[in-house]
Parts: sequence; structure tokens; C-alpha cells
Amino acid sequence: MDALTCIKKLGYVGVLDFATVDADGAPQVRNISAIHYENTDIYFLTARGKYFAEQLRRDGRVQILGYTRYKETIRVSGRAVEVPEDEQRKWRDVLYAEQPYLENVYPGETKNIDTMFVLRDYTIEYFCLSTRPITREYFAVGSATVKPKGYVITERCIGCGTCQGVCPQQVIAEGTPYVIDANHCLQCGNCAEHCPVEAIERC
Ligand code: SF4
Ligand code: SF4
Repeated sequence: MDALTCIKKLGYVGVLDFATVDADGAPQVRNISAIHYENTDIYFLTARGKYFAEQLRRDGRVQILGYTRYKETIRVSGRAVEVPEDEQRKWRDVLYAEQPYLENVYPGETKNIDTMFVLRDYTIEYFCLSTRPITREYFAVGSATVKPKGYVITERCIGCGTCQGVCPQQVIAEGTPYVIDANHCLQCGNCAEHCPVEAIERC
């Protein structure tokens, strides 16, 4: 898997969930299909008066989620920026050409209320439940960096093997200390709950 393949898969999914944060810090999520992919740049459209646009302008953080028929979850996290005024028309026209239904939503001059945002710097979390063990990968696009997630086994490990026995995906290897294969970990925490010496920590 790689970042561009993840983005192409999102394109096949079509309608994606876009989550933002409102002025009270509460999550807000909606479906968006007005999306144009330009390599790894993700352009999307809303209207200037929408709460969505206000949240993007004020905060910018957005998380995009898609789920494929192959039980793949693809989560994109980043900070969107509004497309500069002199490029708005260009990207809007590209999107309307790709998705003619938009003309039905904003016919004629009413489409001038539209505004385009773009996400260029973001991380991707890829999570696939159709492999055994499951697959989890992270990618950074643009200037974004991936922050470690999941569980690690620390030097407090006494090598009892309890965690191996309770791991639903059998992704813990013997060692000093024992080691979790993060690329196949569910991040369920069962190992941490059963470790007798609390040697397993969340990143
Ligand atoms: S359960 Fe804890 S102490 Fe035992 S092997 Fe696993 S990490 Fe080490
Ligand atoms: S968090 Fe769950 S899947 Fe990951 S190593 Fe621990 S028990 Fe296994």
C-alpha cells in the first residue's frame, strides 16, 4: 500500500465522511461527494455560508474517512486551506465537469456561492480487516508527519508470554522485551490489560 493508492481508493468510494470541529469543540461530520483528486491533493467544494466552510476557515482541521468493499478503512487527517481567489474558478470548473449533478444543486450564477478548499499536507491511516492478521499502515503526504499510535512493550517486560496468549491477531513476538508488530496490531489493548507488570503502554 502507498499514499497515492489510498487516495485512489477513496476516489472509488466516492462519497466520504468529512469531520471538523465546531466553535464549541464538538465534532461535526457530513458526507461529501464534491471532491476532485489532483495526484495527492484533495480538492473539495462547499458553499461560503455553510457551517462546514466556517469551521474550515476558523480551525482548518479535517478528517476524511472512507470504507471500501474490501473492508479497508482509509482515514485522512490534515488541515485544509481555502483555494486562493484567482484559482477558485479553475478548480470549481474541473469539479463541475467531473460531477455534472452539481449543476443541479447550484445552477447558473448561483454556483458563485461555492468555495473550494484543498488538503495537501496530511497523514493517512490505512486499516484493512480482510487480511489475517489485519493490516495497518501510516503514510505522510506533503509536510505532514506521522505520530506513533498503538501499544509498545517496555523494558519492564519479564517475558511471561501472557500477552501472546491473549492477542487476537497473534502479532506479539518473543524477545527481551517482547515486541508488538505495529503493522498488524488492532490497537485493542487486550495485551496491556493482561500484562501482570503493566509493561505495555499506549504510544
Ligand atoms: S504480558 Fe507483559 S511481562 Fe508478560 S511477556 Fe507480555 S509484555 Fe512481557
Ligand atoms: S493491542 Fe490487541 S492486537 Fe495489538 S498486540 Fe495488543 S492484544 Fe494484540
